[in-house]
Amino acid sequence: MKRGFVVMSLINNVVRETKSLCPDCLKTIKASIYEKNGAMYMYKVCEEHGEFHTLVWEDTKENYLEWIEYGGEARDQNVNSNPRPTTHNCPHDCGICSDHVQNISTAALMTTNVCDVNCPICFTKDGQQGVYKPSNEELLNMASHYQDTFSSEHPIELCGGEPTTRDDLPELAKGLREMGFDHIQLNTNGIRISKDLDFLKALKESGVTVIYLGFDGFSDKVYEKKYGRKMLDVKLKAIENCKTAEIGVVLVPVVMKGVNDSSLGEIIEIAKKNMPTVRGVYFQPVSFFGNYPTAPSNDERITIPGVLSCLEEQTCGEVKKVHFMPAGSEHALCSFNALYALNKDNTLKAVTKYGPRGINEDSAKKVSEFNKRSWRYSKMKTLTIGGMHFQDVWNIDVERLRQCRLCIISEDERIIPLCTKYVTSTKGEKLYSGIS
Ligand SMILES: [Zn+2]
Repeated sequence: MKRGFVVMSLINNVVRETKSLCPDCLKTIKASIYEKNGAMYMYKVCEEHGEFHTLVWEDTKENYLEWIEYGGEARDQNVNSNPRPTTHNCPHDCGICSDHVQNISTAALMTTNVCDVNCPICFTKDGQQGVYKPSNEELLNMASHYQDTFSSEHPIELCGGEPTTRDDLPELAKGLREMGFDHIQLNTNGIRISKDLDFLKALKESGVTVIYLGFDGFSDKVYEKKYGRKMLDVKLKAIENCKTAEIGVVLVPVVMKGVNDSSLGEIIEIAKKNMPTVRGVYFQPVSFFGNYPTAPSNDERITIPGVLSCLEEQTCGEVKKVHFMPAGSEHALCSFNALYALNKDNTLKAVTKYGPRGINEDSAKKVSEFNKRSWRYSKMKTLTIGGMHFQDVWNIDVERLRQCRLCIISEDERIIPLCTKYVTSTKGEKLYSGIS
């Protein structure tokens, strides 16, 4: 669409104004959140590339505003005392910049972009980048910079690519442990740990505290769609090996509409069967970034209330919408969380209930401590159910970015919010190149 010829839609029922990006040129543009037919949409216009309407919340304006209100007071008191100067404003040169209003409570260390599967959808893939496999010394230096800027008291995640393609991963974990990181999470597809129990045991002995395992359902159909291969046996064997090695597991389903959104109840059943080894289930409603350049339709989107409705329906009310609240310290619209205990009759009992988070002046630290306690291997039969809705170029919301607490430790010593780091335009362009 040519400049000057954009005819803006008449938008009624606007409840929030924010800023977003043009999906085509990545310019910062104004965005409005409005209600239509009982759901919330983001509307934005680029003078060059036209207008965009994206589904952001599958529930009413009242539900959306109540959720934001409940999450709204969790702000840290002393944020980012040493911000990086910014000349182009959030999100164009973050690192963390002075626009950021929240502390970081989890940092991801990208150990490699090498992977042992070639997924059709990949969050982190950057076709422009060659092989990225820094030495352990380089990775520990990056972690050390993060530690100087923030702290080692927060969880650190080992990510990729696939981190277990590195034989020296146990030494990396050991190095991080010696630096003071006491909660080390390994994000994995499970292939290596399913067939190499000694490697898994070495990881545990070196300081890895929890396995964050991609787990999208109980049928190979979903894995064929996501990974391009069968994976169910791999996933089940990985859980069994974690039981033997006595290391906690969090199951991480990416929720894809029409692919596995009818399997969420089944995933909770698998988690229950494998408690207490399985410590949590962390759902990720699919986001369209990485190697996903074509504009997804709103019919392909599922949002936080959509996931919660599926859970309530598919567990026959054992897990209910009202058990959940915005999690911890990030922007309310980013995540949801609830804690359960297992009853003697094998049903889940909610320990949390949907309600205001209240004023919480050290929220990032509290989130860290909660995750450490609830995800670490234990004989206690508790289960966290939660999730995070990562943002893509269509729904990205600068107000959410400013409150992000989950960041990537970049190789140029920046600390960059995850959704900022991986946002990808329709042309495959990114604000920040490379995986790290
Ligand atoms: Zn544009």
